[in-house]
Amino acid sequence: STAVVWFRRDLRVADQPTFLAAADAADRALALFVLDPALLGPSGAARTNFLYGCLRELDAALGGNLLVVRGDPAEVVPQVATAAGAGTVHIAADFGPYGLERDERVEKALADAGAELIRTGSPYAVAPGRVEKGEGGPFKVFTPFSRAWADHGWRAPARTSASSCSWVDPSTVDGGPRAVPVPGDEPCDSTLPEPGERAAVQRWSDFLDEGLHDYEGDRDLPAKHDTSGMSPYLKYGCVHPRTLLADLGERRGDSVRAFRTEIAWREFYADVLYRRPDSARRNYDTAFDHLPLRTDSDAYADLDRWTQGRTGFPIVDAGMRQLRAEAWMHNRLRMVVASFLVKDLHLPWWWGARHFMQYLVDGDLASNQHGWQWTAGSGTDASPYFRIFNPITQGERFDPDGDYVRRWVPELADVPGKAVHQPWKLRDGIPEGYPEPMVDHRTERRESLDRYEAVKAAR
Ligand code: FAD
Repeated sequence: STAVVWFRRDLRVADQPTFLAAADAADRALALFVLDPALLGPSGAARTNFLYGCLRELDAALGGNLLVVRGDPAEVVPQVATAAGAGTVHIAADFGPYGLERDERVEKALADAGAELIRTGSPYAVAPGRVEKGEGGPFKVFTPFSRAWADHGWRAPARTSASSCSWVDPSTVDGGPRAVPVPGDEPCDSTLPEPGERAAVQRWSDFLDEGLHDYEGDRDLPAKHDTSGMSPYLKYGCVHPRTLLADLGERRGDSVRAFRTEIAWREFYADVLYRRPDSARRNYDTAFDHLPLRTDSDAYADLDRWTQGRTGFPIVDAGMRQLRAEAWMHNRLRMVVASFLVKDLHLPWWWGARHFMQYLVDGDLASNQHGWQWTAGSGTDASPYFRIFNPITQGERFDPDGDYVRRWVPELADVPGKAVHQPWKLRDGIPEGYPEPMVDHRTERRESLDRYEAVKAAR
């Protein structure tokens, strides 16, 4: 008998509960990936190319036995199951708004074809929807969620490898949808991390050896390059968070705690999005629907300067340029540039979120939309609206020697030390080619607080 293992956001062979479920259900397994135009369309070149790289590596790990097809999963998955004579299709459950709806459609179509969709595990240590308050209902605030999440606990990693299943050679399956090769890379100007499971494992082990020790102290200093870099690998499931948590295991200390807390943030936002799928597109806190926003043609011109990294605020521009160059941005900068867009330019957070989703290699709907809403003040557990990041002091505090700015803003490469954060104060004036600040931060801060009055009035 044959089962299908349908890979989605779990492009790895280690810690794969679906393999165990498939091996229980049948003698052989057919490995499947569906190139779904509904998902590939909106994903930018960086994420698409990273995905293709992960697929190539997964195919190699499975001995060249990954069947790749293109189309709507609700059509092609049942066709594959029928062609392979499979009674079960095994997946790790998806909890995003699109994934949930897609899997329901696939489940129905499979049932019509006489096959069953079996969900085992998810991309999270604790599946969204599981952590509840004592009296029931979801947490809206992170800290109590993270405590309940840790108390809930998670399974040990599943001990699997490529040989946990006996893989069917897809060329022996007749009559299904046409197999396609993994497409070639799209044009992309960003330098991407090495894709795939092996690179994920290597990076993680380097981080455990070299980065974790100082993580708590250094994680907010973008010049140090000291965070784990696991986000793209977690996004595509080249490694499961449970594996990371198990490796942290019995280790103690502030850095271990801090890292575990970051994983909890990822799980919190997935939980929030699962319970409020509308919050992907609109304010979680609907009182913010009353915040007056700029959306005229000047607003679009300002958006453009922000995306190009030409705001005239060096720390903001450095972050925006890192995003284009590496398809990744340090977390501190994500907060700084988001705050600038929302509170200095008064633009809708979803404009910025959309730009991030287009460029980020780790772009993840739950973490991105809620990271934005945290900064905008409209999300769960938001930073109080009046806490407005000052782009100058943020630069001086988190890039005290100016190294991060000089790395990404070549026009300022010759400005020494922290003077780089206020080039308009230099005796010789702003270095050639670098813009004047596009706004006066103090004025816009006041403007932001004035606009916030409308939100307060709506409560
Ligand atoms: P590390 O510091 O090494 O953290 C380890 C892991 O913890 C990360 O890989 C990530 O999975 C998780 N994590 C850390 N911080 C957060 C956080 N604040 N929220 C959720 N998970 C977190 N993260 C994404 O994965 N995808 C996104 O699209 C995304 N968009 C963001 C947008 C904004 C406006 C903000 C403020 C944050 C966003 N984040 C996003 C969260 C965070 O910036 C990145 O996860 C982190 O910078 C990735 O680098 P790292 O893996 O080296 O992080």
